[in-house]
Amino acid sequence: MIDEQERQEIESVCTYCGVGCDITGVVEDNEIVKIYAQKDGVVSEGKLCIKGKYGYDFVEAKDRIREPRIKKSFLEKNPQIIEKYGDALVEFDHDYMTCDLQTAVKIAAMKLTEIKETYGGWSFCAVGGARTNCESAYAFQKFTRETMGSPHVDNCGRVCHAPSLKGMRATIGEGAATNPYNDIYDTEFMVVIGSNTMEAHPIIANRMVAQAKKLNNLAVIDVRETKMAKLAKYNCVIPHEANLLILNMMAYVIIDEELYNKDFIDNRTKGFEEYREQILNDPYANPKFFEQIEGYEYLAKMIPNIAREYAVKKSMIFWGLGITEHLDGSYAVMAITHLALLTGNIGKTGAGLMPLRGQNNVQGACDMGCLPYYDPDYAEPKEVGLMTPQLIDAMLEGKIKALLNMGEDISHIHPNINKSDKALEKLEFLMVQDLFMVETAKKADMVIGVRSAYEKTGVYVNAMRRLHLSQPLVKSDLPDDWEVLTMIAKEMGDGENFCFESSEDVWNEVRQKAPKRFSGAEYYRLARHRKRGMQWPIHDDDTPVLHLLDFRTDDGLGKYVYKQYDLRGMIKEIIEKKFYENSLEGYYLTTGRTLAHYNNAAQTKRSSKLDTKYDEDILLAPIEDEGKLGDRVILKSQYGESEALTVRYTDRVKPRTLFCTFHHAKSRINALFGDECDELIMTARFKSVKVDVIPVGDE
Ligand code: SF4
Repeated sequence: MIDEQERQEIESVCTYCGVGCDITGVVEDNEIVKIYAQKDGVVSEGKLCIKGKYGYDFVEAKDRIREPRIKKSFLEKNPQIIEKYGDALVEFDHDYMTCDLQTAVKIAAMKLTEIKETYGGWSFCAVGGARTNCESAYAFQKFTRETMGSPHVDNCGRVCHAPSLKGMRATIGEGAATNPYNDIYDTEFMVVIGSNTMEAHPIIANRMVAQAKKLNNLAVIDVRETKMAKLAKYNCVIPHEANLLILNMMAYVIIDEELYNKDFIDNRTKGFEEYREQILNDPYANPKFFEQIEGYEYLAKMIPNIAREYAVKKSMIFWGLGITEHLDGSYAVMAITHLALLTGNIGKTGAGLMPLRGQNNVQGACDMGCLPYYDPDYAEPKEVGLMTPQLIDAMLEGKIKALLNMGEDISHIHPNINKSDKALEKLEFLMVQDLFMVETAKKADMVIGVRSAYEKTGVYVNAMRRLHLSQPLVKSDLPDDWEVLTMIAKEMGDGENFCFESSEDVWNEVRQKAPKRFSGAEYYRLARHRKRGMQWPIHDDDTPVLHLLDFRTDDGLGKYVYKQYDLRGMIKEIIEKKFYENSLEGYYLTTGRTLAHYNNAAQTKRSSKLDTKYDEDILLAPIEDEGKLGDRVILKSQYGESEALTVRYTDRVKPRTLFCTFHHAKSRINALFGDECDELIMTARFKSVKVDVIPVGDE
């Protein structure tokens, strides 16, 4: 029989994806025993996906990092540390020593001071994940810029939605979703492009499914037939790297057939005439182009039909990493916003743009200024720093000497991991704050264990700009990320700058430094509105729909940034009749997520109900290749090769197309990807790499 006082039900927010579902944790004796959705939850609508519902065992996992670890090999190279702190260090295991947190902080401060004084602040960089709260993200960039004097701060948005920020800011002045999720119930037509919404953002998908069943108003555009496509009126399977092509074609149809909203264009945008000419004269923008693309001829009719319906109805467009993780990801996002500008499908309820952000706080991490080219509130920084791929090169060149890695797993989640692993080896000091010994932590000189989201207070911003002030479900002796940074800053003599005693202290500074979005977002108001949530900008009130009267550009007008599609890859090969028949070469691989796991699976694979059924990455291959490839294959690209993968055959991928998840480090999927990236913002080209297939049988 559980004592009343020992059993509590506490409201908080899910720690996984950017949907940001409201949860209630049932806690007995300081242990989470159940998580469920609040029946009246504005985000969850009373339902959670399996990650949210079952993915909490990790909090109690035996291999949580409970005490700091310092690599013995690092200490051997740094006798000055042994000399000063040797007495406080004790054996942890074969490779590591351990000590109390205060000593670890002193050692970190000593080493970082030494690096700063010897090589200058520029030799330090910080790359963070977006799973921690805004307070920690804010402290992270502040520590980098102010305490270390380095402009090099970046976050995991670099490998996901940085192009959404770039593309939306260039055209409408704000890199964030324009509407709340519930506007899906008010929309008349939905275009989902480059998003496997049912698996990556399932609670948003619930709304889409309901609306699609009611109105038959869904177009799904993807290189494979996702689960959502089964419900679509337009199941638009496209060749690899055709996003910009298809979006420009939609604009062509809208302009050519004069389906655009002239009043909106005249009053709310500028540069239309020039854009109109560019699109009408674009050699690839006429959908008839697809009549010559064998296997994809149906697109010549389907794309105009989607464009027509989008233009004449109150419509929304949703996209995921299938748009952003390409060479032209930022331009594809701009092409998406053009469609909204042409038709006036923006700035009102039921019409708008929704980048489906990945991690639970990636919107917040960007808002906090964890980007090399923005301070908090997207203000211009004094000095622009390097983006993560540039930092990797600078490490290899010996220019970057120290990396603080907060909750990001560069050795698993980033591209070209053979190269980045070599770069990490060149560092004089790699410090990691994390929950577990993930791949990057294994390479670190110092690892400090920190609280998980279910153990701390803080603000998270979800994919619809909604702030949620989370509360801890269980107590923990570990520090929050911002506390570790505050301790190190104080130790380095920057205590006046870091006089935070609580997460609320940090947040109050955020509100001062980011007043355009958060001036009215005091903790007490966020707590009072925990159920309904508040969407930024938050001043006297919050802002469910953005761009009602003007855009957030300098002059308030929407802009067109035309970019012609660049003929290459699969489409070029089809035109040139390079078909690779009966060959095991020349496949195009795209990667993505499965419902049960999240990114590097650090938390989900420590949750027993999630890991048992999905303990390896699975490769999907075209059904017609079943006899040719066998049960197990290795993939090989010009950059590296995967480990052996189990193959599943399906009619949901087209010929020469493969799909694989990347959750398990042992698969080494990201070794297949190189440095090719978005040409404006360096997001890796994870959605298309050419690979050869090597059958290995049932090893
Ligand atoms: Fe958590 Fe995302 Fe699932 Fe909601 S949809 S329960 S936020 S993982």
